[in-house]
Amino acid sequence: MLAEATRILAGEQPLQQRMHRLFELLRAAVRFRDGRLTCWLQSAQPGTVRQQYYSADGWPYPWDEGLTRKVALSGAIETRTIVVSNEAALGGHLPVAQASYLGAPIFWGGRLWGVFELRADSSAGLASAPELVSALLPLLAAAIAQEGRRLPSPPAGASDGETPTGLTLGPGRQRQLAEINERLEEMLDLHSLLSLLLRRALESTGAEAGAMALVDHTLGELVLQVYEGYPDDRGALSGQARQRLSWEAGLAGRAARLGRALLIRDVTLQPEHHPASAGARAELAAPILVHGRAAAVLILDSPRSNAFGEEELAFVRALCDRAAHPLSRALHYQDAIESANYLGQVFASLPTGLALLDANGKVLRANPAWSLLWGLNGQTGRAPFHVGLDLVEILLPRLQDPLRLTEFCTAGQRSPGTTQQTVVRLANPTQELQVLSVPTHDSQRQLSGRLWAVTDVTREGEADRLKTEFVSIVSHELRTPLTSILGYTELLLNREFSPDERTQFINTVYVEASRLSQLVEDLLNFSRLEAGKVRPNQWVTSLNSIVHELTTQLNTQLQRHRMLIQVPTNLPPAYVDRDKVKQIIFNLLTNAIKYSPGGGQITLEMREAVPGELPADHPQGRWVMVAIHDQGIGIAPDDLTRIWERFYRVDNTNTRRIGGTGLGLSITKALVELHGGRIWARSELGKGSSFFFTLPIPGEQARRLP
Ligand code: ADP
Repeated sequence: MLAEATRILAGEQPLQQRMHRLFELLRAAVRFRDGRLTCWLQSAQPGTVRQQYYSADGWPYPWDEGLTRKVALSGAIETRTIVVSNEAALGGHLPVAQASYLGAPIFWGGRLWGVFELRADSSAGLASAPELVSALLPLLAAAIAQEGRRLPSPPAGASDGETPTGLTLGPGRQRQLAEINERLEEMLDLHSLLSLLLRRALESTGAEAGAMALVDHTLGELVLQVYEGYPDDRGALSGQARQRLSWEAGLAGRAARLGRALLIRDVTLQPEHHPASAGARAELAAPILVHGRAAAVLILDSPRSNAFGEEELAFVRALCDRAAHPLSRALHYQDAIESANYLGQVFASLPTGLALLDANGKVLRANPAWSLLWGLNGQTGRAPFHVGLDLVEILLPRLQDPLRLTEFCTAGQRSPGTTQQTVVRLANPTQELQVLSVPTHDSQRQLSGRLWAVTDVTREGEADRLKTEFVSIVSHELRTPLTSILGYTELLLNREFSPDERTQFINTVYVEASRLSQLVEDLLNFSRLEAGKVRPNQWVTSLNSIVHELTTQLNTQLQRHRMLIQVPTNLPPAYVDRDKVKQIIFNLLTNAIKYSPGGGQITLEMREAVPGELPADHPQGRWVMVAIHDQGIGIAPDDLTRIWERFYRVDNTNTRRIGGTGLGLSITKALVELHGGRIWARSELGKGSSFFFTLPIPGEQARRLP
């Protein structure tokens, strides 16, 4: 049966003849009295023609057009009992008999093509028909589409206002549409376009509330854009704009998914339906299709049941049809704005200084990092600003090699198609800026100018210098003890010496080997600390005992110095790693001894810190403060800020004579900070120095530790 139907419907004859044969074929399977196909033929040119094909030998009773429209809008096959009536001469309808009715909307590719209907005697019924008819629907849709393509040109009388429900918009509505059309053509801004559509839909349909949402097909969501008339605190659509809603719930979502307009005259008759707003009785939703897909959806709500009928539906559909092109354009425009905005934010927030230059080196646009890195302080505001002139002029007092920047600018103009790079060195403050200059092209791929990308490489330069300095310091420090060790051992091996001389030489070898061992120790310590591999093994510890051990150990070195220890007996214990604290105090005491070659007093003082004496950024809590004072050579203010840097050694005749790696204080600082404490120093050149650091006093939690 289906195979035969397929053959008939796929035939070449006009649709009328094919339908005639199809109805004949159907009679073998279903006992119906008459049948009808209503379809909206879409011709190749814009325009729709309504066509109806009837089975032969039908009932003389007219078809109920209202019922046909209802089926067209409902979206599902409908079977019911109806009363057929005669059109009486007096103008009324005379009921004649009860009958069975089946109506099936023909949907295909997101579009309504027509309605297929059968009527039968009520005794015969159409119980077996729905299954067969639903199998026929795709074949019918294909046949209707094919028939539409055969239409030579839009037939006379098919107006723009014609709708699939066969309803033609009245002249008033058509005028409204034409007027909106003009406004829509002018609009580029998405928000204004959607607001206008919503406003007009509300005015023309009399709906009390409505909204427009964009459709996100990837996430299956509606993104609310504009809405009007919903109470603020009720219903799904009462949130703020950009609110996202799943398209699984609600009429708007269904309209977006199906790609066609839907109408619910009275929500109370469809209890399973959840309206967009709690008070809504009638709802109407229509998609705006762009390239066959719902790009946006309009939803209208009214607290009055039956507020919307086919007239409103037809108008909204026609409105949405007209909005398709302007919407597509506005979406593209919005996309362009969004991406420009996004790129603008990236441009503004990058730490790399960026400037777009025209072919003559004039700055067209620059980000904040650009002014910051060059230290321009708003001087770019002076328009026009040329890199070759204005930038060079402003930087002139600071440029270490002014010619270099000027040449870089002229070279860029001489060979506009090449990428160039340079490092600009500035003084006061010392700064190294790496400038990368790449050619830019316009949309026609023509050279348009250059993009300068400026990065601060001062730290990298500094690190490089430190590394070189380190290698030279370390090799010098290694070579000095090694040379004397080698020299003395060679002497001892090759010549005879008195026992006193031998003891003296061996002693020197021992001292130099100890220096070497200390250097290697420092280097290992430092690299472990720098790699973050050192974890403090903290316990509640009495600092008195550490002081005792250290002073005994250091006593041998104190020939010219007096050591004063000031530790109160009631000093609270600290929560520390014993070995590390020993190392901290040892480093500071040996420095105090080393850098006071003339002798003097060295004081080691410990007490609980009182509020106000700690640096401003010091963490809160209870702290032990340790201070080591000497009366040595002291440190100049400029050096005082740098002594914590690794490998930094104050360079003067005094310090040159005293050996060292410049690592001791940076290790000490890292060890103090491992405990959460801080270290700082005060000093006066020629008078002496004081170093201070803090160690935590345990809270209740730490006291309970084993
Ligand atoms: P070094 O191995 O050179 O002693 P440090 O890191 O321990 O390295 O110290 C860095 C520099 O700080 C030293 O070179 C020295 O110039 C200065 N310095 C450190 N402690 C003192 C001090 N107590 N008195 C004077 N200068 C000091």
